[in-house]
Amino acid sequence: MIPVRIPDIEFWKDLVPCQIACPVHTDAGRYVQLIAEGRDREAYLTARSPNPFASVCGRVCAAPCEDRCRRGKIDAPVSIRALKRFVTEKYGVESIEPDTQEALFSGAPEPGNKWLWHLGGHVHPASARRSKVAVIGSGPSGLACAHDLALMGYAVTIFEATHVAGGMLRHGIPEYRLSRSLIEKEIQKVRSLGVDIRFNTPLTTGFGLDDLRRQGYEAFFLSVGSNKGRDLDIEGSHLDGVVKAIDYLLNVNNGYRVDVGNKVVVIGGGFVAFDAARTALRKDQDEGGSLHEAVDVARTARRSGAAQVHMVSLESFAEMPVLRTAQGQEEFEEAKREGVKFHPQRGPRHIVGKDGHVAAIEFRGVIRTYDEKGAFKPLFDDSVHETLEADTVILAIGQKADLSFLRTSDGVELSPAGFIKVDPATLATSARGIFAGGDAAFGPRNIIDGVANGKRVAQSIHEFLGGAQPAITYELSVEHVPTRRFTRPEDYEQEQRLAPPTVDLQRRTGISEVELGYTEEQARRQAERCLSCHTQTIYDADKCVMCNRCVDICPEYCLKLVPVEQLDIDPSTRSSVMEHYGVDSMHPASAMLKDDETCIRCGLCAVRCPTGAMTMEVFYYEQRRA
Ligand SMILES: Cc1cc2nc3c(=O)[nH]c(=O)nc-3n(C[C@H](O)[C@H](O)[C@H](O)COP(=O)(O)OP(=O)(O)OC[C@H]3O[C@@H](n4cnc5c(N)ncnc54)[C@H](O)[C@@H]3O)c2cc1C
Ligand code: SF4
Ligand code: SF4
Repeated sequence: MIPVRIPDIEFWKDLVPCQIACPVHTDAGRYVQLIAEGRDREAYLTARSPNPFASVCGRVCAAPCEDRCRRGKIDAPVSIRALKRFVTEKYGVESIEPDTQEALFSGAPEPGNKWLWHLGGHVHPASARRSKVAVIGSGPSGLACAHDLALMGYAVTIFEATHVAGGMLRHGIPEYRLSRSLIEKEIQKVRSLGVDIRFNTPLTTGFGLDDLRRQGYEAFFLSVGSNKGRDLDIEGSHLDGVVKAIDYLLNVNNGYRVDVGNKVVVIGGGFVAFDAARTALRKDQDEGGSLHEAVDVARTARRSGAAQVHMVSLESFAEMPVLRTAQGQEEFEEAKREGVKFHPQRGPRHIVGKDGHVAAIEFRGVIRTYDEKGAFKPLFDDSVHETLEADTVILAIGQKADLSFLRTSDGVELSPAGFIKVDPATLATSARGIFAGGDAAFGPRNIIDGVANGKRVAQSIHEFLGGAQPAITYELSVEHVPTRRFTRPEDYEQEQRLAPPTVDLQRRTGISEVELGYTEEQARRQAERCLSCHTQTIYDADKCVMCNRCVDICPEYCLKLVPVEQLDIDPSTRSSVMEHYGVDSMHPASAMLKDDETCIRCGLCAVRCPTGAMTMEVFYYEQRRA
């Protein structure tokens, strides 16, 4: 029997996988299609609407959208992230038209499918009495929350431990991947909405949530990140010259010179902890974060003048989940080109010292890192003895949250892994009025996950402070495209993915940005690769004469006529279908099946149909407050 899905709103949402995969539900496909049409300003507004860090994400987003892109099932995903950069360079904070986004603040609609927190065309819920809200930590999660709360009219203050805002954007990600002036401009936009940032004001055991409550703050968002490097418990790990990746990057990113010598060994690259329980609990999230960290450290060490940089990981390449992502692959290739040497399936045995300083590190082999159930259970091969000489060993084996500022009286419970425990739907902690998100609640993840949490908490805080919990409705519109006007770009199905251009290897010194933007022509061609998942073939059985021509012409073999008896539908739907079409034992019926996953929206079926039974239709949906 063939399973059948009656289209509901979830069906339409699932048709655009890039949008579903994005944690803030950016209508990525839509902005890509607008770029293909040369409508760059609208494309920018579509990309910016749900994401106050559109320009940052155009440079370094982990791009989960690309990993779900339907084009990836045919050859390689559309370069969604790099195309975002193409439009932010024209209309984002870094462009010559940096105020373009302000159109969204006044409610001007942008094209694309919308969710509640998309700005354009939506009326923001308003704070009844401009309550004071405290956000702890100014990383992407805290800033995104402050941005949305400020737009709702709340008086938001961010308490930040360090002298700069941005969290790991500033302290973790190296400048050659993300320019500091761009981060600053994006944060400046958030501040211009009235958000106050108190620098050098950490929450501590001496200055805590109770003190803020006494100052009149009514709700709190804990977004302090996960900024403490994990230790490696082997012989020699306390020698001089063994440093944690986070501390190393923090120093380099804040302008301090760190002498790493000539030979650097980075331990990490997918394995995050020797704490099996913790890894089994939160495996995927931790691995993603630590590969970023390990690759960034290795490339930064090369720039600091180290002649040899080795990256050693427990996992084989096939076991590293991040290497199965389009962005992870491209970053990995760049590190290889820059001369970083990778050593997969090696586990550190002990660190060898000389006169109190690290001199070398010894490794054993690794047969496998995860067991059949996917749990972290490394199996070592002790017959392997390998040694790498080292002036510095950098540990990039994961991070933990520093939550020492929490007092027992705060009532905020922690998870067994040491992060803040939250209700996954509202991100409320166990204490009333206190919410948490980003890396502090979920362990090391990605920027856009943190942004999504911040936006979710803004909604939760609004509801907590007396705003009504919205009843949600959807508006769906489906627009017929006359078949004679339905065209696709020439050879769109043959165009290959092009990695964004980069500067020559010889010019990769210090902080100069490595990745460059697409040229105008490259961007248009790359955007044309999009399969336009927002277009759907609609089949009208009343007009069909069962000539089978659509089935014959489809280049992807995704259409099929089958006897209706083969469909797995519930009895009442079956009888109403039978009744509608006058089907009985004398008049058997067929059903048209279509595989939406493989359809490339070429429109040939509609062109070939002699009766207009097959049409191409563009759909939009909008989530609204009832
Ligand atoms: C080296 C590295 C490279 C990365 N590369 C990428 C990438 O390319 N793409 C990607 O998507 N993600 C990347 N990530 C992950 C990404 O940076 C994080 O997931 C994201 O920054 C988490 O946001 P956050 O707001 O939760 O926390 P953070 O960004 O960590 O911000 C937390 C903030 O809270 C402040 N704080 C901490 N304690 C206190 C306190 N007690 N009181 C007040 N303030 C406090 C901190 O100073 C900091 O400003 C990378 C991470 C690292 C470490
Ligand atoms: S083909 Fe286009 S619309 Fe479809 S998932 Fe990829 S980017 Fe999105
Ligand atoms: S649009 Fe093209 S790929 Fe999709 S069903 Fe019709 S003929 Fe097949």
